[in-house]
Amino acid sequence: MLTSIRLVSKAAEFAARRHNGMARKGRGNEPYVNHLAEVANLLATATDGADAELVAAGWLHDTIEDTDTTREELAQRFSERVASLVAECTDDMNLPKAERRRRQVMDAPKKSAGAKLIKIADKISNIGARIQTDPSAEERDDLADYFAWATQVVAGCRGGNAWLDEKFDDAVKATRALL
Ligand code: ZN
Repeated sequence: MLTSIRLVSKAAEFAARRHNGMARKGRGNEPYVNHLAEVANLLATATDGADAELVAAGWLHDTIEDTDTTREELAQRFSERVASLVAECTDDMNLPKAERRRRQVMDAPKKSAGAKLIKIADKISNIGARIQTDPSAEERDDLADYFAWATQVVAGCRGGNAWLDEKFDDAVKATRALL
């Protein structure tokens, strides 16, 4: 069993390598790793550093969905719980986008406590990236569309961590001020 610091550093390095060269949607086409760092740090802060596997899963949460990483590989390299948290946050990419979104809303309340926190942190980060000063009509539509859906997903995830819920509410306020 890796120490907490080793587990989290190893997850950060692995995620950075697997997502190498990818850019995220939204403001300024930031490197994808910025999104992962933000999600991991939100989780570390929300839990006051008490759950290293959760923070590691934050770094890794998009690896199965977006890179050629398998659940088995994560279980082997990290732990069964890390692999299971990431798997819970992975959409079936064979389904069309509308169906993936519908399932996230439906399945959110059934997720584990840790996966719910990752989902909230993910939505906070993705809304934040879509909030820009002077948005174009297209950017505003993209924010409105993402926001409407993310709010439904988060409604099924809330209640496990007051600080994270509050951060999401801040993102809601910032969005409403723009739309
Ligand atoms: Zn993500």
